[in-house]
Amino acid sequence: MKAAIFYGLNDIRIEEREMPKCPKGGLIMKVCYVTTCGTDVKRYKRPYAIDRGQGEYPIFGHEASGLVYKVDEECKDFKVGDRIVAHDATACGNCYWCKKGLSNICPNMTRLGGTWTEYIAVDKKILEKNTFKVPNNVPLELAPAVEPMACAMHCAEAANVRLGDYVVVNGAGPLGLGIIRYVSAMGAQVIACDMSEFRLEMAKKMGAKWTVHVTEELDQIKAVRALTPNERGCDVAIEAVGLPKTWELTIPMARKGGLVLEFAGCAPGTSITVDTALLHYSELTIKGLFHTTLQQIQMAFDSIVNGLIPRDVMITGNYTLDNCIQSLEDHSNQIGIKNLIKIADETL
Ligand SMILES: [Zn+2]
Ligand SMILES: [Zn+2]
Repeated sequence: MKAAIFYGLNDIRIEEREMPKCPKGGLIMKVCYVTTCGTDVKRYKRPYAIDRGQGEYPIFGHEASGLVYKVDEECKDFKVGDRIVAHDATACGNCYWCKKGLSNICPNMTRLGGTWTEYIAVDKKILEKNTFKVPNNVPLELAPAVEPMACAMHCAEAANVRLGDYVVVNGAGPLGLGIIRYVSAMGAQVIACDMSEFRLEMAKKMGAKWTVHVTEELDQIKAVRALTPNERGCDVAIEAVGLPKTWELTIPMARKGGLVLEFAGCAPGTSITVDTALLHYSELTIKGLFHTTLQQIQMAFDSIVNGLIPRDVMITGNYTLDNCIQSLEDHSNQIGIKNLIKIADETL
């Protein structure tokens, strides 16, 4: 089978790999669609903090949907031909953090492995906890969005919004757009900031009330605060870009007593500076966020099934495995939202 192999920064090659073996209690998925994600761009373009534990030259990518191609005899819940999406990881459910309701930071994650290939083995643990049958009325190419939308759900729940809250979301990529959709559905009034006019248009479609077009010259903090009553600042300020500079910019966008959510991961070894007087006298809460919980993955999947995430906003472009590098370059240059790579037709 063909697969996109990650050799290192800016080096992905399409090569032949052996078909995976069907795991005990698991199945083999024939991949139909994979999508690009900010995480993929980070991994391709810059040093990346997470070792996905797939050896020296792993298959690239982490989002996929497809059809059940083969099932192990011990696998009873899925059958050949089912339309499915498998999440990229699953928490163990048994460790200290899982039992504390923090399965997003479980140290014993089982990972799906690279998805930019023709067939994937889905392990029993991922099958039991984080694999979903996609109803016929949901486009199969939208289903891989469950992974980033689960992370967006993690952020939206952490935002703990109340009706009418002012929430700024810095960054209107796929994750920022998901956050905008969820917090606006929860009753927030959303300010979306981005450098791309196209992404800001999508932010409006996802429920943003105001958009701020970020340019080099703009005083972004002032522009955001000006949209809140008496320029008091936002109840919740969210960073969904993944740059230390934006992490810092986001903090003074929050009102006194407000909440700052540093959502998007930055390159390893970077740090930020926080004004101690601002933190103290404004009694700000600054919280880092990572990944998602088992419950939020289910909620994200349900939100997709219920039509909350429109296919035409979230999924853009049409690439193949042979030009998958272009899909990453385009994503990196803010062309499209989640770029779609079609691997195979939806037939067995
Ligand atoms: Zn992703
Ligand atoms: Zn755990």
